[in-house]
Amino acid sequence: MTRKQVLSRLRQDDPYDLLVIGGGATGCGTALDAASRGLKTALIEKNDFSEGTSSRSTKLVHGGVRYLEMAIKRLDRTQYNLVKDGLYERGVLLKNAPHLANRLPLVTPLYSWLEVPYIFAGLKLYDILAGKMGIGGSRIVSRKEALKRFPMLKSEGLKAGVLYYDGQFNDARMAVTLVTTAGRQGAVTANHVEALSLVKEDGQITGAQVRDKISGEEFMVRARGVVNAAGPFVDSIRRMDEPDVEPILKASSGIHIVLDKRFVPPETGLMIPKTEDGRVLFILPWQGHALIGTTDEPAEITDHPRPKEEEVAYLLRHISKYFDLEITEKDIKSTWSGLRPLLHDPKAADTARLARDHIIQVSGSGLLTIAGGKWTTYRKMAQDAVDHAVKTFNLSPAAECFTDHLPLVGAEDYREDGDQVLIRDFNLAEDVASHLHHSYGSEAPKVAELARQGLGERLHPDHPVIEAEVAHVVRFEQAERAADVLVRRTTLALLDKEAAGMAAERVIAIMAKELSWDEPRCQAERDLFAERLQTAL
Ligand SMILES: Cc1cc2nc3c(=O)[nH]c(=O)nc-3n(C[C@H](O)[C@H](O)[C@H](O)COP(=O)(O)OP(=O)(O)OC[C@H]3O[C@@H](n4cnc5c(N)ncnc54)[C@H](O)[C@@H]3O)c2cc1C
Repeated sequence: MTRKQVLSRLRQDDPYDLLVIGGGATGCGTALDAASRGLKTALIEKNDFSEGTSSRSTKLVHGGVRYLEMAIKRLDRTQYNLVKDGLYERGVLLKNAPHLANRLPLVTPLYSWLEVPYIFAGLKLYDILAGKMGIGGSRIVSRKEALKRFPMLKSEGLKAGVLYYDGQFNDARMAVTLVTTAGRQGAVTANHVEALSLVKEDGQITGAQVRDKISGEEFMVRARGVVNAAGPFVDSIRRMDEPDVEPILKASSGIHIVLDKRFVPPETGLMIPKTEDGRVLFILPWQGHALIGTTDEPAEITDHPRPKEEEVAYLLRHISKYFDLEITEKDIKSTWSGLRPLLHDPKAADTARLARDHIIQVSGSGLLTIAGGKWTTYRKMAQDAVDHAVKTFNLSPAAECFTDHLPLVGAEDYREDGDQVLIRDFNLAEDVASHLHHSYGSEAPKVAELARQGLGERLHPDHPVIEAEVAHVVRFEQAERAADVLVRRTTLALLDKEAAGMAAERVIAIMAKELSWDEPRCQAERDLFAERLQTAL
């Protein structure tokens, strides 16, 4: 569907069963769940899909090792269930999107013998809780093996390590894949369309007044039920319904920095369970780079939070404690900040202690808000939201929820050796084939075909991202702006801002051809993307 068709379908008089506001993990998951049950579904996102928190995570598909510790120490059932649900959902996600997610071995370095039984017992319990969805057993590794697996690790005082497994994924591509899968199930999804106000008839919400941020046009989307999945912004949507409503969320910011691949081995991550101030720190291989995070600071709610100097300094200081390599700010290739939507508990002073569980709330006029949770549990959150919506809005779905065994786009007919097939059939370089295989799964041959037809050049010599992807994501993944392509569809800017800046002109030229942009529009895209690179992704 072209953007024009999408917008005209949003405008139609016949109401949708559900209108979802927010195109992050929660909203995209909810739209997919609803559409796959046969409900007439629309989704609007004011920026790009996953342009909020959902492209700025640590990229782990996990139960949360730290939450397990809290569950046991405080005998807290909510935390315990959170870990158990997370581990189940980890297995579902790895199965339904094998091209976007993988199993990742992680080493926890231990510098005191006393820590060894404690950490090992905790990680063993983590394995046990995963049950049949387990992805590999934890074990103690010798100092020698820990250093072999993670050679940059500080060797002085190292006693041993514990090796365990978690999942890792491409969060931004996961969100757009949920959108394309929802589209195949009949949902109408639009990015760069903002909800301005809620429309009510006889005190009940019947839709939203929205604005297309690209053309500036305003119109109404009618729906039997509206789902507020606006992440850190859920309270601003709730205020459209009831101006004086008490907030339910607090935000905390978490930044990541990205370094060159020489700072991490290609297949093993590092998990520091407790930094000096009690936080967990990850140093992970991701897309041929080293991804390091994160921080946890109370924050203002804005669209593009900027990583603060103190947060960057905090990460650099902590890495140098665990690394035998010297790292300075000059080594940073990209950095970004995300806002955790945390359920508000006025009694908790420390944002790290607020539960990451989700809540669903329905207002007197029928606004259904879903908030909290984490990426890993998006599917369960979506299922709960749609179950509630069916009852609240008296909807008649054609089917029960089946998203736990619904392969996402790219996972149908997926084969592990798809990269080898791309090399054989399209004569692609090994790194390009691997990148296409892990970004598009069984859709990758479509991209490779575009490469064969003349769009085969790399966008930057140091990266496997190619021109064909730009045309593909414009045609099939609703990429509307240069930043949609460079930040989220290809993740190039999340990995290497300088390379993304250099690639921008070529991306804009291909988009201009695909979308018939004139020169003023091209200039607007140049300016917008340059601003994103300079301020915050
Ligand atoms: C630093 C950090 C690291 C994390 N790491 C992990 C991890 O490793 N694993 C994990 O499982 N989870 C992780 N999380 C949590 C996870 O990323 C979030 O729980 C999840 O992305 C939240 O998704 P969401 O859809 O609720 O919010 P968002 O992704 O923020 O989506 C909400 C969307 O609503 C849109 N919106 C707002 N107002 C409007 C409006 N008026 N009209 C239309 N659209 C609107 C916004 O633009 C936004 O895109 C992490 C979070 C952070 C911050």
